[in-house]
Amino acid sequence: MISLTKKRIALISVHGDPAVEIGKEEAGGQNVYVRQVGEALAKQGWQVDMFTRSSDPEQARIVQHIRNCRTIRLVAGPQVFIPRDELYGYLPIFVQEFQKFQLESGFQYPLVHTNYWLSSWVGMELKKSQPLRQVHTYHSLAAVKYKSVLTIPMIAKTRLRVEKTLLETADRVVATSPQEKEHMRSLVSSKGKIDIIPCGTEIERFGSIARSTARRQLGIASETKVVLYVGRFDPRKGIETLVRAVSLSALRKADLKLIIGGGWRPGESDGKERDRIGNIVQELGLSDITSFPGSLSRDILPAYYAAADVCVIPSHYEPFGLVAIEAMACRTPVVASDVGGLKYTVVPQETGLLAPPKNEALFAGAIDRLLVDSVWRQQLGQAGRSRVETYFSWDGAASQLGQLYTQLLKKAANELDPVSA
Ligand code: UDP
Repeated sequence: MISLTKKRIALISVHGDPAVEIGKEEAGGQNVYVRQVGEALAKQGWQVDMFTRSSDPEQARIVQHIRNCRTIRLVAGPQVFIPRDELYGYLPIFVQEFQKFQLESGFQYPLVHTNYWLSSWVGMELKKSQPLRQVHTYHSLAAVKYKSVLTIPMIAKTRLRVEKTLLETADRVVATSPQEKEHMRSLVSSKGKIDIIPCGTEIERFGSIARSTARRQLGIASETKVVLYVGRFDPRKGIETLVRAVSLSALRKADLKLIIGGGWRPGESDGKERDRIGNIVQELGLSDITSFPGSLSRDILPAYYAAADVCVIPSHYEPFGLVAIEAMACRTPVVASDVGGLKYTVVPQETGLLAPPKNEALFAGAIDRLLVDSVWRQQLGQAGRSRVETYFSWDGAASQLGQLYTQLLKKAANELDPVSA
C-alpha cells in the first residue's frame, strides 16, 4: 500500500525552475519564491520536493539544495526552453510523469502548493486521482495582466477559465498582498478561500554590504547619482518609462548613471524588449550614462542595490514585486508604480515614493526629489530596512505557509478518520 507521509509536500512550478540561475530565460520572481519558500520550509522540518519541467537534457534530473529540499525535473515535452504561453499542451504529460514519480517512490504527496496558472491545472488534475490538498499562488493574474498589454495571446481564454476554476476549488489560495486579493475578488470570482501571506526576502544577504564598499567594488565614483532597475526585460515592467524619466531629469546628465540589470536571450521576447529599450536609450542620447550589465547573480545583486541612490520599479502591473523589498533591505529607497503589491511594500514618503504607471514626468519628479536630498534618502533607506525586517523575511513567509499546510492536513485527516482524530 502507498503510505501517506504528512510532512512531505510538493511545490509545483512547471515553468519556473527553482534550481536555475535567476535573471536568465524568463527566470524571475517565481523561481526565487519557490526556491526560497522551499528551503525555508525544509529548515522548519518539512520534506520539500519542488517539481519543474526539464528544459535542457544536460540539466541534472534531481538537484539537492539543502537537507530535505530538492528540485525534481520531469521530462514533459521537448527538453528545450519553451515560452510559458506555449506550455499548456504539455501539461498532461507533466501530470503523468508526476504520478509515475510517486509510484516509483512508493508514496503520494498529501499536499501540493502550485505556482502560476499552468501548475494550478496540474494540481487540479492530480486531485482527480488521489487524496490531495491544493494550495496555490498565482504570481500573475490574467484578468489584470490582459488589461495592460496590447497583444492578447491565444492561450488567454483557457488561462482565464483555469484561473477562475482554481480560485473556486483550491483548498486555499495565497495572495501575496492585500491588493492581489482584492483583484482576485473583483476580477476573478467572489467564491473561494484566500489567505494573504506576503513574499519575503533574504534579509542577511540583502543589506550585507555598505554603499562605499559596493561602489568601490563596482567602480562607481562616490558623487555619481545612480538610478537602478533590476528585473526581466518585459514590456509590462515599464523600463521605457524609467528611461524616458531619466531623460526628463532636471539634474546634469553627466552626474547621472542609469543601470538596467537583468538577462536576455537574443531573438526571444526578452531579447526583443532589450533591443527596443536600447534603441530608446540611444534616441534620447542617454547611451553614455546607461549600462546594461546583463543577468546579475544573487551574490553581486546586494552590491548593485547598495551602490544605487534610488531603485526604480516602473511596472504596469505587479502582484508583489520582490525587487522592491530587496532594495529596501539594502537601505535603498524605491520609486515604484502605484500598482498592486508595490502599494503594499513601499510606504510613500517613508520608504520611497509611488508614481502612476507609464507617467514618465511624475517618475522623473519623484526620482529627482530623492536624488537631490541625501539626508532624506538615508532616512527612507533606514525605514525601508526596518519594514523589511519586520514584515518580509522568508522565514516568516514559510512559517505562515507551514501553519496553513498543517491546518489543511489536519482537516484532511479528520475527514478521513473522524473517530480517532
Ligand atoms: N533577478 C536576479 N537577477 C537579475 C534580474 C532579476 O536575481 O539579473 C531577481 C530579482 O532579484 C528578484 C526576481 O529576479 O528576486 C524578480 O522578481 P520580481 O517579483 O521583482 O519580478 P517578476 O520576475 O516576478 O516579474
